[in-house]
Amino acid sequence: MTKIRTRYAPSPTGRMHVGNLRSALYEFLIAKHDGGSFMLRIEDTDQERYVEGAVDIIYRTMEKTGMIHDEGPDKDGGVGPYVQSERMKTGIYMKYAKELVEKGEAYYCFCDKERLASLKTEVVEGKEITVYDKHCLSLSKEEVEANLAAGKPFVIRQNNPTEGTTTFHDELYGDITVDNSELDDMILIKSDGYPTYNFANVVDDHTMNITHVVRGNEYLSSSPKYVRLYDAFGWDVPVYVHLPLITDENHKKLSKRSGHSSFEDLLDQGFLAEAVVNYIALLGWSPEDNREIFSLDELIKEFDYHRISKSPAVFDMVKLKWMNGEYLKAMNDEKFYEMALPYLKEAITKPLDLKKIAAMVKTRIEVFPDIKELVDFFEELPEYDTAMYTHKKMKTDEASSLEVLEEILPLLKEQEDYSNDALYQMLLGFVEKKGCKNGYVMWPIRTAVSGKQMTPAGATEIMEIIGKEETIKRVEKGIELLKNAVK
Ligand code: GLU
Repeated sequence: MTKIRTRYAPSPTGRMHVGNLRSALYEFLIAKHDGGSFMLRIEDTDQERYVEGAVDIIYRTMEKTGMIHDEGPDKDGGVGPYVQSERMKTGIYMKYAKELVEKGEAYYCFCDKERLASLKTEVVEGKEITVYDKHCLSLSKEEVEANLAAGKPFVIRQNNPTEGTTTFHDELYGDITVDNSELDDMILIKSDGYPTYNFANVVDDHTMNITHVVRGNEYLSSSPKYVRLYDAFGWDVPVYVHLPLITDENHKKLSKRSGHSSFEDLLDQGFLAEAVVNYIALLGWSPEDNREIFSLDELIKEFDYHRISKSPAVFDMVKLKWMNGEYLKAMNDEKFYEMALPYLKEAITKPLDLKKIAAMVKTRIEVFPDIKELVDFFEELPEYDTAMYTHKKMKTDEASSLEVLEEILPLLKEQEDYSNDALYQMLLGFVEKKGCKNGYVMWPIRTAVSGKQMTPAGATEIMEIIGKEETIKRVEKGIELLKNAVK
């Protein structure tokens, strides 16, 4: 058995799209599951789409996701260079293109813009493409040579048959057969001397000994042409896995606006890299059982690419948030505190015990940005409606709450020890004396000290954090509001 070799081959065009990240992850998992190698290749032959800094984003993303490559521009494995623009300088693409010309599988084309503009166009997958009419195929060897010698600009095109069919195999979609008449004579070498993606990926995947290619199914329609190139060279076709599109909840393409689109967009929204990786792994792949939480190491162990599904994957933000929350719950307290700190500081400027507050929110948030709304009452008592004092189950209403707060206020003033335990004992003593249920007392107090219906902690924990002075102030405020309400 040959060793599995996979590659992630991003084009440096910006942030790392979720779809690309999934392809990369599956390539990584296929290789690692089998003790194979995972390679990084930078596909920068499309100079027009090149974005400054995009290569750094690629490295950063690989590092943050833990998809560590075994070979790449920074780690030579003997089949480099690993950047296509550098490979081009070695003359590799031109050499192979000329080999195809020799074999009659490709030809020089000198048609100028005007002529190409006059050709028939067809709309393929929403894009207008010109169907080349093989005009230059009829040039004699001498004519071609004369044109080249005269320095006439040229491209090299694949020479596809116009009759018969081509069949290739995809792991998800099975055998696919197309009529050769549908295959345009795509450009292999552009007029700037660069290879097209279509040509470079075939030459590179072969010369870099790639065994499995995972990519989005937007490449499915071009694959017969790639397969014809492999056949023309007499090379083995790699195992193809074309993944279905990932859509948003409305079955539309993921967009920047909805925040789904790239890995870094998701990090900006406060998601953890591990949770995103875990979630993306499940966008089209599932294990044998219903398990959903997987570390990267566990994914490596479990990942069987035969279990990838071809039904379209829907990116469900609600699910990702839930998953992120699970990762936060499982995180150790120290790390959680460290990561939550910037968000806590955004909400709280007073010298309060942020560590304790962090511990309160850890199991109650799904993403870090949820923190602010949950804790801002510590900083300042929000305006609230006294209707909140009425709670059916606790058997409280505004009048009963007013009574409790008025009775408790002197005790709060007397109390010296504002630790959670001491406060709790004190309140329990009060409850006992009064002969009522806990909630009858705790509910109004918690409402008064927080001004919120839901809080990440109980009354006495909140009082411990805000301290004596602030507690008294807030209870007094509650009394004042309730007096006005019951008047
Ligand atoms: N450079 C291509 C892209 O970023 C790679 C496609 C492939 O994996 O073959 O879409």
